[in-house]
Amino acid sequence: MPELPEVEVTRLGLLPHLPGRRVVSVRWSNRRLRLPMPRGLLREWIRGHTIDTIDRRAKYLLIRMRHGSVLLVHLGMTGRLGIFAGDAPKQRHDHLCLALDNGMELRFNDSRRFGSITVWPGDHAARLEKEFSARQGIEPFSDAFTGDHLLALARRRRQPVKTLLMHSGIIAGIGNIYANEILHAAAIHPATPADRLDLRQWQCLARAGRRILADAIRAGGSTISDYLNASGAPGYFQLRLCVYGRKGDPCPTCGTPIRRTMLGGRATFFCPGCQHRED
Ligand SMILES: [Zn+2]
Repeated sequence: MPELPEVEVTRLGLLPHLPGRRVVSVRWSNRRLRLPMPRGLLREWIRGHTIDTIDRRAKYLLIRMRHGSVLLVHLGMTGRLGIFAGDAPKQRHDHLCLALDNGMELRFNDSRRFGSITVWPGDHAARLEKEFSARQGIEPFSDAFTGDHLLALARRRRQPVKTLLMHSGIIAGIGNIYANEILHAAAIHPATPADRLDLRQWQCLARAGRRILADAIRAGGSTISDYLNASGAPGYFQLRLCVYGRKGDPCPTCGTPIRRTMLGGRATFFCPGCQHRED
């Protein structure tokens, strides 16, 4: 499932191709995504209009139009957004296609259809964006992502720290893979109750989080040229993972075999040598 780095890499890959381009036509499939396709809004507020830029908030991409409307895309589990030549063969599971005025097409492909497409129309976009943003957690690359702030957020929260990290209403964009990796880098056991961590540990976690997410974005950056390959599919990058999916492998830090357990219904990997349980 795409987490913050994959969404950010998608944004960086699209950024050279979208600003200033006019959307000349819009096509969609008849299959329902997580939300129904907003056909009327796409016709009225996206078709015929010019793209200003593309931003990201949490795991959403915000394609901003010059007149103020926003096309909001969530990649769900399997969603991919890529730039293709207009005559490139259509793929099964292409659910939305914006034809641009330079002959290229922005296509959204999603085999499992957990993704979503939303339009905030020009006259309501600012208010809708404000309401949307208030429901998302803090951005790991924002100034608010500090040890002090995380300590305050975790006050009186008994849930495991890993569950808190993955709570999208508290922290944006961290899913299962990066939660495992960040906790390993910060030498914190994933099941530690969030309110038992001290300031030093939260500071360490904030630093590790930013570093790991930034490394992943950099690793993904090398795949950006794939956007214009014949396939047009954005290549999801091979991450260098220390613990995730590595049960039994030696910990890169101390050599202890990595353990796998279940926490909150999710596969959880940790090193019993570096990540001590505190209750
Ligand atoms: Zn270790």
